[in-house]
Amino acid sequence: MNRLSDRFGRRMTYLRLSVTDRCDMRCVYCMPEEGEPHEIRQEILTFEEIHRLVRILCRLGITHIRVTGGEPLVRRDLPVLIGMLSPMDELADLSLTTNASRLSPMAEELKTAGLNRINISIDSLDPEKFFRITRGGRLSDVLAGIDRALSAGLTPVKLNTVVMRGINDDELPDLVRFAMDRGVTHRFLEVMPLGSVGLENRAGFIPAAEIRKIIEKRYPLEPLPFHYGSTAQDFRIAGTEAQIGIISPVSERFCSSCNRLRLTARGRLQLCLAYEDGVDLKKPLREGWSDDAISDLILKAAYQKPAGNHFAEDSEPVYQIAMSGIGG
Ligand code: SAM
Ligand code: SF4
Repeated sequence: MNRLSDRFGRRMTYLRLSVTDRCDMRCVYCMPEEGEPHEIRQEILTFEEIHRLVRILCRLGITHIRVTGGEPLVRRDLPVLIGMLSPMDELADLSLTTNASRLSPMAEELKTAGLNRINISIDSLDPEKFFRITRGGRLSDVLAGIDRALSAGLTPVKLNTVVMRGINDDELPDLVRFAMDRGVTHRFLEVMPLGSVGLENRAGFIPAAEIRKIIEKRYPLEPLPFHYGSTAQDFRIAGTEAQIGIISPVSERFCSSCNRLRLTARGRLQLCLAYEDGVDLKKPLREGWSDDAISDLILKAAYQKPAGNHFAEDSEPVYQIAMSGIGG
């Protein structure tokens, strides 16, 4: 039975589980050139600690987990953690979001360990532009990662692109074509004003309605029904079976049906991307609290989940920690 609910009647079934705040890229919309400060290793939850918290959260009602970061594949021995989590009875779905820089040699191992599916970030199909956006990423590694994810059966593979004015807005139809050629879904994200790059992100922001228009110049779109808890408005490309999604946390926010919680790499249960509200679970864990006592802490915190973000308000960036620190 799901016991994770809040004041607004929303039920939380989905956990974004960050396994590291480190990353081997420096995407311009996510962090500054010099990167974000890292937690020291002892502050990061061990696999055993993650496993225990996930077990408690699943007993309370979590059924879907997405492993993320930072870049989750820079966490050493990640397949071992996947193998520890995947047998949990309550888990209907275990997925991962990655920049795919290291995916190609690991895809099979992740599948064997019990990972169901994967989302891959790809913001440009031009190697030089990709290098500039990610400040050092190699497009060829990502393309190899996509191919290996497909051949390993980490399906459905979904591709994510953060859309930025003057940077990659000219490539959206080409990215749709790229996804169609591989039979995968592509999702376009509005850039959020998060972290120390939040103000630049506001300048590059393109709203969902405009993203749709840019794509429709080449591919007419038919809206598909909205599913509760989904963050994307899905579309079918007219005359085909291919689908795309547009994720609009800023212009058409989906907060009223939000079903997610976040567990950061340093063991903080975070209730919303846009607020610091949450509760530290690492200290109770390391102080030897019982499962029941930790469950109570989680239930009380979840009940206080904020109503929604206020990204659309033209104020300062609302949250000083980047997505890489929260678990995007
Ligand atoms: N490193 C992995 C990756 O890039 O896929 C996983 C973590 S990353 C924080 C998760 C997702 O958040 C990526 O698709 C990334 O493009 C997106 N993201 C990061 N910062 C963002 C921002 N300010 N606005 C919108 N999306 C953002
Ligand atoms: Fe790293 Fe992902 Fe942030 Fe890019 S978006 S810097 S790959 S955590």
